[in-house]
Amino acid sequence: MTHTITLIPGDGIGPEVSRATQVVLEASGVKIDWEVQHAGAAVAETQGTTLPNSVLESIRRNKVALKGPIGTPIGKGFRSVNVTLRQALDLYANVRPVKSLHGVEPRFEGTDIVIVRENTEDLYAGLELIIMPGVAQSIKLITERSCTRICEYAFDYAERLGRKRVTVVHKANIMKLSDGLLLESFRKVALKHPKIEPAEMIVDACAMQMVRNANKLDVIVTENLYGDILSDLGAGLVGGLGIVPGANIGHEAAVFEAVHGSAPDIAGKGLANPTALIQSAVMMLHHIGESTAAQKIDRGLISLYERSEIRTADLGGSSSTEEFTEALCKAV
Ligand code: NAD
Repeated sequence: MTHTITLIPGDGIGPEVSRATQVVLEASGVKIDWEVQHAGAAVAETQGTTLPNSVLESIRRNKVALKGPIGTPIGKGFRSVNVTLRQALDLYANVRPVKSLHGVEPRFEGTDIVIVRENTEDLYAGLELIIMPGVAQSIKLITERSCTRICEYAFDYAERLGRKRVTVVHKANIMKLSDGLLLESFRKVALKHPKIEPAEMIVDACAMQMVRNANKLDVIVTENLYGDILSDLGAGLVGGLGIVPGANIGHEAAVFEAVHGSAPDIAGKGLANPTALIQSAVMMLHHIGESTAAQKIDRGLISLYERSEIRTADLGGSSSTEEFTEALCKAV
């Protein structure tokens, strides 16, 4: 069967890691007809928008997309295309497995955390204003509906994947109403999942716990901003941003993308590690029922990293993106 999937190469290192991922998927034997769509700053010059409707239409039609990173100007300029895309398609669950990869030295042996991040609300709602010169306000928007569905997703995920515990990460000691709503929703949802142990942790304590002993954590469910920060922290525990994958899941569609950004510091130099996007594509293959191809790529990655002579610079090696990709294709 041939799958039609939207591909957004993105910018910065996006096109390099997207190309590498396409080549590896092809080597795995899975048949994909890619519908390439562009978004981001370069598109705005010709189309007047960073996120053309055609991109959203393509994803809605195909229900699945693979996406490279897209840069966002800092402190000014257009709104994040990544955030807008997640909100427009209501991709409410951002799933980020932080797992040590065999052969890549992690901070702790056997780290295996899954961060389930609410993906549509919080301080990312884009509600910001200048109240008066020198005073700015960003509104943290939290709804019971979103808290409930993200907690339900996390517990369902834990049950489906045979995990033992779901920890809600919050700051309800300070934000008693907004984070309090998450905590309240979590406790209600937990009652419906007696097989999974519920746990609660304040976000600062969670950051400390991840650095001191990440293996005490299993599935984490949290708000948008905390999830964003903790997943980069998690990436740091298992070898860096070049490795950690992600999925944005909604009821209508799913968009698979790495945790990392467009890495402008190494873009165009052939230095990017494509593993994170390749592992995101592995998640995508499971999602579309192509588990055999997914397992082939998984095994290829394990055997490649075990050998250790082929490594990109972020992991202390000197292989280019292309050399890494070629070696992985042979191992798949
Ligand atoms: P970044 O993740 O792009 O880079 C952080 C550091 O990690 C850099 O030193 C980079 O070289 C390194 N790195 C990241 N991915 C790598 C890879 N695959 N291989 C090797 N090294 C890698 O974060 P940043 O620099 O803070 O952000 C750059 C841009 O990306 C910003 O405009 C930001 O808004 C955007 N961004 C986009 C997404 C997304 O598209 N989902 C996510 C995060 C950041």
